Amino acid sequence: MKTSYDAIIVGAGPAGSTAAILLASAGWSVALIEKQSFPRRKVCGACIGASNLPLLAALGIGEAFAQLAGPELREVALYCGDRVVQAPLPAVPNARHPWGRALGRESFDVLLLERARALGVNLWQPWSMRTFDRSAGVFRCGIEARPAPGLTELRAPVLIMANGSWEGDPGRNRRVSRKPGDLFAFKANFTDSQLAPGVLPVISFAGGYGGLVIAENGQLTLAGCIRRDALKTCRAAAPGRTAGEAFERYLRTDMVALRDALAGARREGTWLGIGPIQPGIRAPWHRADGRFMIGNAAAEAHPIIGEGISMAMQSAWFLCARLMAAGRASASAETLQRVGVDYARQWRQAFAPRLHLAATLAHLAMRPWLAPIVWPLIERAPRLMTVIARGAGKARIVPPSQGAPPLGRFESLEDAN
Ligand SMILES: Cc1cc2nc3c(=O)[nH]c(=O)nc-3n(C[C@H](O)[C@H](O)[C@H](O)COP(=O)(O)OP(=O)(O)OC[C@H]3O[C@@H](n4cnc5c(N)ncnc54)[C@H](O)[C@@H]3O)c2cc1C
Repeated sequence: MKTSYDAIIVGAGPAGSTAAILLASAGWSVALIEKQSFPRRKVCGACIGASNLPLLAALGIGEAFAQLAGPELREVALYCGDRVVQAPLPAVPNARHPWGRALGRESFDVLLLERARALGVNLWQPWSMRTFDRSAGVFRCGIEARPAPGLTELRAPVLIMANGSWEGDPGRNRRVSRKPGDLFAFKANFTDSQLAPGVLPVISFAGGYGGLVIAENGQLTLAGCIRRDALKTCRAAAPGRTAGEAFERYLRTDMVALRDALAGARREGTWLGIGPIQPGIRAPWHRADGRFMIGNAAAEAHPIIGEGISMAMQSAWFLCARLMAAGRASASAETLQRVGVDYARQWRQAFAPRLHLAATLAHLAMRPWLAPIVWPLIERAPRLMTVIARGAGKARIVPPSQGAPPLGRFESLEDAN
């Protein structure tokens, strides 16, 4: 494969593959580096908001998604102990597909990746980006295939980091301090559950939060986060079990509606776990070295709002629209700097409020002892949950006017779907 490109993208999750598709369809030569082999399961609830469906259509995977994904999600619920409240999810106004749906990452990420490959993106997989530096306006990235030792050098004027968050920044050290409040995330799939299709329950428990959803083939996905100290307690109560199994046992203990949903259900495969995850805002653009960051590499929302995939893809869209307007390969350092400033501004406007809302909701959900204050309010006005879901971006189509080509071609994105 060649080693000089217009752009190098690190990570083929939703952010990286979206960027690769957009740039390749505009004629850029793109290297996409992914360290894992696909398909791979991933700790994620896999809900894709309706706000993202027009983007899937614009990327060329709208039909395939519609065929594979689980039922339309029309209701949100909140489970806490023996309490349940349910309310409508907000619909995207005037949309052909007004409701979100769920599709496991082992399928969704492959759809995006195969689309990128079909558009001529050079896929380096399974390869890891190990080192990078920039001189004379060119990035040099050292990438490595496992188990083959030794670095191969790729070069490009544009470097886009889409390597997720909890895996850290290649070439940099990760935080190693351990805090009781560190969050660990788990996910498992179940068949034959009792959860009504189309309902998206959020679960709130001491030390954590999570959600359940019916995804493709009627499979239930249960995913959630738990603090280090709470995980330690539940592991102590379940000796000999894996961390994921102890987490499940803890959830079943006093959450009645969750227990009902899982009655008679069979777990498919093992529990997956990662962590600690690092919710928070990092930087969409590194002024000092010129790297662009998209998806979780730029910021990670507490997954309680289930909007990380949408934000990952939309951040790729914002950035690529600007890069494409700046022009392939001809972009000077000053132009790329302007792209960075613009992208960072739009990124903050679009995502910072959602990230703050997600953090607030996560901290409320992890403290069920606030229930005496919060529950009477929610029980009296369940539609508060509809309003919150709207605030989290569930019904907000990213305005086409904020994007340049190729989104300009989908002036009415709904028509493209
Ligand atoms: C418990 C939980 C539940 C969630 N539920 C939802 C949900 O229901 N809906 C939703 O929208 N979001 C959800 N999310 C969030 C969502 O999973 C993330 O926001 C999303 O995966 C971010 O996409 P990304 O492309 O930025 O990163 P990722 O999907 O993490 O992709 C990054 C990719 O980069 C690769 N990579 C990393 N380092 C390197 C390297 N050095 N070289 C090469 N490749 C590399 C990785 O292998 C990976 O494939 C959830 C998260 C958690 C923890």
